[in-house]
Amino acid sequence: MDCIFCNIINKKLPADIIYADKEIIVFKDIKPVAPLHLLIVPKKHIISINQLEVEDKELIGQLFFIAKKIAKEQNIFKTGYRLIFNIGPDAGQMVDHLHLHLLGKKKLSSM
Ligand code: 5GP
Ligand code: ZN
Repeated sequence: MDCIFCNIINKKLPADIIYADKEIIVFKDIKPVAPLHLLIVPKKHIISINQLEVEDKELIGQLFFIAKKIAKEQNIFKTGYRLIFNIGPDAGQMVDHLHLHLLGKKKLSSM
């Protein structure tokens, strides 16, 4: 299996990593669309939300807690930020390893 994010997790590919623990890694998006554009990624290779198992419940919850912690650290807790999962082709998912986008430090257009 050749997965870009697994390769980043296994340190076979470089990335600007800003947080890591046993289960989750956070790094800067290579093509940021906002001044702060991070990818919050479980180390477990899950393709997308569509492939979530009941056993992943806690892990998914943890992605949001990490997002909140980073938002506080980056001083965007009050100004706001956006969290996005892209799932499948219509959403433009390009990397088939589940990831939560964190966008901030910019006034984002309403959806
Ligand atoms: P998706 O469209 O799948 O939700 O988002 C994938 C994201 O991964 C894109 O925003 C893209 O810029 C980012 N990305 C793709 N390849 C790499 C890479 O090798 N390193 C990093 N840091 N980000 C990547
Ligand atoms: Zn992977």
